[in-house]
Parts: sequence; C-alpha cells; structure tokens
Amino acid sequence: MSQRCPVVVIVGGGFGGLSAARALKKAQVKVILIDRNNHHLFQPLLYQVATSVLSPGQIGSPIRGILRNGQNTTVILGQVTGIDTAERRILVDSTDRTGVPISYDYLILATGVQHSYFGHDEFEKYAPGLKSLADAVALRNKILRAFEQAEAEEDPSRHRELLTFVLVGAGPTGVEMASAIAVMVRSTLKREFRRIDPASARIVLVDMAAWVLGTFAPELSDAAQRRLTQLGVEVRLGHGVDLIDDQGVVVAGERIASKTVIWTAGVAPSPAGKWLSAETDRAGRVRVRIDLTVQDHPEIFVVGDTASLDQDGRPLPGVAQVAMQQGRYASNLIRRRIEGKPSPKPFRYFDKGNLAVVGKGFAILQSGRVCLSGFLAWLVWAAVHLQFLAESSLRVSVFVQWVWTYLTGQRGSRLIVKHHCD
Ligand SMILES: Cc1cc2nc3c(=O)[nH]c(=O)nc-3n(C[C@H](O)[C@H](O)[C@H](O)COP(=O)(O)OP(=O)(O)OC[C@H]3O[C@@H](n4cnc5c(N)ncnc54)[C@H](O)[C@@H]3O)c2cc1C
Repeated sequence: MSQRCPVVVIVGGGFGGLSAARALKKAQVKVILIDRNNHHLFQPLLYQVATSVLSPGQIGSPIRGILRNGQNTTVILGQVTGIDTAERRILVDSTDRTGVPISYDYLILATGVQHSYFGHDEFEKYAPGLKSLADAVALRNKILRAFEQAEAEEDPSRHRELLTFVLVGAGPTGVEMASAIAVMVRSTLKREFRRIDPASARIVLVDMAAWVLGTFAPELSDAAQRRLTQLGVEVRLGHGVDLIDDQGVVVAGERIASKTVIWTAGVAPSPAGKWLSAETDRAGRVRVRIDLTVQDHPEIFVVGDTASLDQDGRPLPGVAQVAMQQGRYASNLIRRRIEGKPSPKPFRYFDKGNLAVVGKGFAILQSGRVCLSGFLAWLVWAAVHLQFLAESSLRVSVFVQWVWTYLTGQRGSRLIVKHHCD
C-alpha cells in the first residue's frame, strides 16, 4: 500500500517562506505555498522604488516563477484568515471564494509584519509607510507630485511647505529614504525646474531615540549622522512626533509645516499569534521554542519577523537573514522527521553582519568586531544586495541601473502613475 505524501503548507512567500519552500524542493512532501501577493518582494530596496531609482519590477518577482522548478510545490494566491489547529487546516480567502479550508500535516507561518503607528492609527492618513510595492509607488507619486505642485504654485510662500519632507523614524528605512531624497534633489532634479530650486528642499529626519541607526555600534551611528548632515538632512533626535495632520507634524511643541510626511518608524507582526491563540511577546510576535515550533504544536513552525526567539539573552532582530535561516531550518527539521532521522540541534542564528546605505557611495557595515563606513562599505552593500535578489535577471537589471544612476545621476522610474482600482 502506498503511503500518503505529507502536506507542508507554507504561509508567506517572503524571505522566510521562500527559503522554506526551496529547502523542501527535493523532499518527499507536497508543498503548498500561499501568499496574498503573487510576488516575492525584496523589501531592502523598496526605498529605491519610492525615490525613483528602480522600478517595481526590479525588486519583485512572481513567486510561482521563482519556484517553477519545485515539482512538488503548488503556489496559491490567497489571504489566510485563520487556523483551525484541532482539525489541522487553515482558512484562505482566494480571489473569488472566502474561508476555503486547506489541510496540512506541517504548517510553516512566515507572514512578516505590517505598519504600526504605536496606537496613533489616525497618523496613517497623513504619513504613509513603506512595506509593499503599492506603498513604494504611492510614496514615489507623493514625493514627485510635491515638486510638480511647487513648480505650478505662483505664490512662493507656499513653496516651503511643499518642499519640506519629514521622515518619522531614524532606523535603516528612514535614514536610507532621507539620504536618497537628499541625493535626488541635489542631482537628478537640479536643472529641471524654473520656478523652484529643488536643492532648497528641507529634509527632516525625526526620532525619539538619541541616535540614528540605533542597532549599529555608536561610531557607525555617528558616521551615518555626519553623512546625513553633509547631505543636508536635518536630524532631530530625542523627541518623537506629538502630532501628524494635513499641515505637517508637531515635534517637541514646534510645528514643521510639510505636505509630505513619511512613516518609517514602527512595525507590528502579522496576526499569526491570534490565529494560533499562542503566547506572544510584548510586540505581538509568536513565542517559538528553540526548534521554531509553537508550544504544544510540534507540527506548527513560525519563522521570520512574526516569530519571537531569544538568543544569548537578546531577541533576534527582524532582518532578512534571520527569516531565511529560520525558513531553511524549519524545512530541514520537517524533512528529517519524515525520513525518521534525529532532530537537528536547536536553531542558532549566524549573524553575517548588518549594512545600511547613506546616500551615494556611502554605507556603514558591522560584522562581528569589524566596523566600516564609507565607499568600501558601500561596495559591500551593493554586492550583498545584488546577491540576494531573487532572480539573476533582476541582478543584471539592477546592476545596470545602479551603474547608470551612479554615473549620470539619472533615475530609472520617475513616473507619477495613477492606478485604477482593480
Ligand atoms: C522598507 C524595509 C527595508 C528593509 N531593509 C532591510 C535590510 O536592509 N536588511 C535586512 O536584513 N532586512 C531589511 N528589512 C527587513 C526584512 O525585509 C524582513 O526582516 C524580512 O522581509 C522578513 O521576512 P519574513 O519572511 O518574515 O516576512 P516578509 O518577507 O515580509 O514576507 C511575508 C509574506 O507573507 C505574506 N503574508 C502576510 N500575511 C499574509 C496572509 N494573511 N495571507 C497570505 N500571505 C500573507 C506577505 O504578502 C509576504 O509576502 C527591511 C524591511 C522593510 C519593510
């Protein structure tokens, strides 16, 4: 009698889910990967779409295309809305049906994070965040439209608020976005406007922390801040925003008039903890055991940004490397169980280092005891990001665009695109 092939359902085709699916390509299992988007997104370069360097198609690839060689893998476009752990099935809203049950023997949840406005959801209307391709294109439209509006405005007293860009949150996304806007106004847009001088744009980066890029060593954080200042970015630390409205922001009692406020501050995990009724940390991430399974459910794994695991007394960071290593680990463990082999050692994250870019030709790098800032770090940043793009066609296209932009200052996609709702 032939044995039934175990079904592994993976929810999420981001860094964690994709690594998990790739690691099961040759296993004797049936894999079903479900994502609410049809594409895998390289989030670290989202800011380059928002600042017109790259086009959306250069950082996203269809998931079914990436996994086309996995004969045991089915990709489904759908939004998971709940999990019935007793019956071992998930509920999925697909394009034309709701609550479709899909059964699993093993479940890997890799559903990432969403924006968090720290209890101030009313800010979202005025300060959009950057998490998806749609967000990046909407921000690109907003930034480019501000320059168009200022050029069309005869009253020069209105130019100031139109050309003030406020970024809330001085983590990697805020720093990368602020420096990229600074480079854009001083290079690409320099000679194209007649009534306004784009280089006069005011770029303000606000954070309640005392440092920019607080997860890096203090000397790197200082180097990044000096670089931001050289680029003309106004860095306001030590105070969060008290208010965001259609007139701009209020920081430490001072109003900064701005028509373009961008939220780069916080994220909250997906509702995986609620679906599972599992223990979560304070941020809402699912507490997983050292083999990445959920308490009382050895068949359910949670990986990546939506999982919470401490290593050496500190929580693992929400970065792509953690998600990829965890996705691979979960799949290897499942494969070994199915093959009747002993379980691997507990999960341990191998930190290859952190990078952040600050404008053209400058990055900071921290790897173990090595701290580096400047052009060399920027070359490493570029090489690492190219290497981790999902497909070789994207690597070629992004590399060519970067060389072109570096040499000429011209950007790949400076279009204001109005999308129809579909
Ligand atoms: C702007 C930005 C810049 C970043 N820069 C860096 C960087 O430079 N370096 C770095 O290491 N990390 C960076 N990160 C963090 C990194 O992208 C994440 O740590 C990583 O994506 C986490 O992987 P994941 O698989 O947990 O989640 P994700 O990659 O976010 O994938 C989650 C997937 O789950 C899907 N999904 C969510 N909910 C559902 C549902 N209900 N049903 C179906 N599908 C669902 C989503 O569509 C998505 O495809 C950045 C993140 C952002 C937003």
